[in-house]
Amino acid sequence: MRMVRIGIRIDASNHFIVTSMKHALHPVRLLATALLAGASVVAMAQTKELNLYSARHYQTDEALYANFTKATGIKINRIDADDAGVLARLKAEGAASPADVVLLVDAARLSLAESEGLFQPLKSVTLQQRIPAHLRSTDDGNGSQWFGFSTRARVIVYNKDAVKRADVDTYEELADPKNKGKVCTRSGSHPYNLSLFGAVLQHDGPAATEAWLKGLVDNMARAPKGGDTDQIRAVATGECAIALTNSYYLARLMRSTKPEDKAVMDKVGVVFPNQQSWGTHVNVAGGAMARHAKHRAEAVAFLEYLSSDEAQQYFANGNNEWPAVVTVKITGNPALEAMGDFKTDTLSVAQAGKSQVAVQQMLDRVGYK
Ligand code: FE
Repeated sequence: MRMVRIGIRIDASNHFIVTSMKHALHPVRLLATALLAGASVVAMAQTKELNLYSARHYQTDEALYANFTKATGIKINRIDADDAGVLARLKAEGAASPADVVLLVDAARLSLAESEGLFQPLKSVTLQQRIPAHLRSTDDGNGSQWFGFSTRARVIVYNKDAVKRADVDTYEELADPKNKGKVCTRSGSHPYNLSLFGAVLQHDGPAATEAWLKGLVDNMARAPKGGDTDQIRAVATGECAIALTNSYYLARLMRSTKPEDKAVMDKVGVVFPNQQSWGTHVNVAGGAMARHAKHRAEAVAFLEYLSSDEAQQYFANGNNEWPAVVTVKITGNPALEAMGDFKTDTLSVAQAGKSQVAVQQMLDRVGYK
């Protein structure tokens, strides 16, 4: 019987470590390894499942989960909700929560969940080695609480007939009076904007950031509304001339075969901002072990699996994102290929996410809804 396709060892803290995608390990040998390592065999024999609360719903995720189960024998019980729904459910359930692993998008949400005590720190050599330090939460000595597994860029889109590319090279320029009456964004309080604004705060300081946010409000073509795709469409129609969007919404339109989507992309130019300064803001979709996880070893095994070469491909490509693990490259995605390479901000996304309270206070002061 050949059930285990990935190598697993158990470290001193009884964590499963995914060591290799190549070396098969027979379940009996796995048990023997556990005995040698002094792990709780009883716990391992009884618990072959994992409760996953996920705010991600992409077709390729199905293959991701199926492959994990095939490789480890650990069944995944999935609860899907949107990000706010996952957070609300974790809070309502408290210590009775069956959640073992939580998947959320954006550092602002991950940081919020961390600050509300919904996660627990995790020490994993695999994750420390695989996930760059600026894409996971700060290690306070007990490990990180969450890890980014894919990255998305927050980019500028502009109407090619109405705006010169040179006028929208940077985030800072969006607040310049030359762009008055042209800018559209979704709500300033949306996590995607809170994180971007948090990054600007880290780079430009509080006074410049608040002045910048005020400038953005002054330059609005309309009051903030809708999602990122709505902003792209409004740029194409000319209702707005400039907008902010996460890169994967653009990629979806770029890959769409619908004539109306092609027409949108004909009108719209894309800028990866701040290439001459601190780089384009990138954020993450990430995962964490839930505060009250009962299947701890399985949770660690799953999170470590998400950093494997195979899982990185599925996880990132499924939503037209980039892998968090730098050595993994996506192939066969024309939209990502068209976007090419760009300079990314290397500031800690956790730092940007943690700034959300300060940013929200600024938004309130400048009247950015
Ligand atoms: Fe999104």
